[in-house]
Amino acid sequence: MINKMAAVVYTAPQEMTYFAEYQSTQIDREDDVLLRIDSVGICGSDMHAYHGKDPRRNPGLILGHEFCGEIVDGADKGQKVTGNPLITCGKCEYCLQGRDNLCSDRDMIGMSRQGAFAQYMAIPKQCLVYAPNQMNSNHVALTEPAATVVHAVNLAKENSFKPINECQVLVIGAGAIGLLTALLLKSHGVKMQVLETNLARHLCVKEHVGVKAVNPLIESVDENSFDVVIDCVGSEKTNSLSISSVKAGGTVVNVGLLSWTSNIDIRKITLQEVKLIGCYTYNMEDFKSALKSIENGAFGDLSWIEEYPLSETNMAFQSLHNGTMASAKVILKPHF
Ligand SMILES: [Zn+2]
Ligand SMILES: [Zn+2]
Repeated sequence: MINKMAAVVYTAPQEMTYFAEYQSTQIDREDDVLLRIDSVGICGSDMHAYHGKDPRRNPGLILGHEFCGEIVDGADKGQKVTGNPLITCGKCEYCLQGRDNLCSDRDMIGMSRQGAFAQYMAIPKQCLVYAPNQMNSNHVALTEPAATVVHAVNLAKENSFKPINECQVLVIGAGAIGLLTALLLKSHGVKMQVLETNLARHLCVKEHVGVKAVNPLIESVDENSFDVVIDCVGSEKTNSLSISSVKAGGTVVNVGLLSWTSNIDIRKITLQEVKLIGCYTYNMEDFKSALKSIENGAFGDLSWIEEYPLSETNMAFQSLHNGTMASAKVILKPHF
C-alpha cells in the first residue's frame, strides 16, 4: 500500500498540477493490482481533457492510460506489464463476441478512475498484459496507441476488396496514431501518401516511414484516387477530404475524433458505394498483437519518442498545445 506518491492532477482547463506528495486513493479494491509506473504517454484524448473539451474527464482526475509499469506485490512481483485501459464487463453480447471495445458497461483508466500520470496506479487484474521484462518501457507504453492502429488496419484489410499491399492508401495526420499507422502499413509493403499540417513532423515521416509528407493546406490532394483512406484526425475538413479522396468502391476508416460535428458527402458515399467505417480503440486481441508487433519491430525503432520527467507534464502539455512539440509521442517518467 502506497500512501503518498508524486502525481499530476488535471486541476482546471489548461492546468496540469504536479504534486510531489499526492494522497493516493483508489488502490484498495479487491481485484486491483498495484503497479509502479515506469513510463506513461500523453494521448490526444488527454489533450482534449486538458482543453476542457471532454465531458467524461473532469478536474480532480489523474489522466494517463498509455503506460508501462511493474507489479509491486505478490507472486508476479517485478513483472513488467502494460494494461488495456478499457475495463469491460466480460458478460455482455459484445464482450462475448470478442468485440469488448463496444462493451455496453465499460469503464476506463484515466477517465472514470485514476490514471497513470503518477508513480503508482491500481488496475483491475483482468486488464493486465504481461510484457517481456527486457523490453524498453517506453516501447511497452506505446502498446495502447499501437493497438488502436492494429484495429484500424485490420478494419481496412477486412473491408477492402484488394489485399492491403495492393492498395493505394492515404493516411491523414502524422501524430502518434497517424505515424504508427504509416509505420505498420510500411511493414506490410503498402504504397501510401501521408498528410500532415505540422511541418515539424514532416522530417520524422521522411526519416522513419520513408515517404515525403504532404501539407494539405498548401498542396492539393488527388480526388477519387485512394483505395483506402485512414483518417487519424477526424476534423470536419479531414472528414470531407476522406470522402473526396477515396475511389469509387473504396474504404474510409475514421479513427480521429477531433470534431463533434460532421458534414460528410452522403451522396458520394451512396452513389459510389464508399464504405465508411468507424473505428474505436481495440479489443484485447488487438492489444496483445500490438505489443508483439512493437517487440518484433513492425513499428520501426521508435526513436522519435521524446521523454520528460513527470514534473514537467504541464510544460509538455503546453508545447503540445502550442504546436511546438515536434515529437509525435511524449512519454513521461514518474521516477526520474
Ligand atoms: Zn490513448
Ligand atoms: Zn461487456
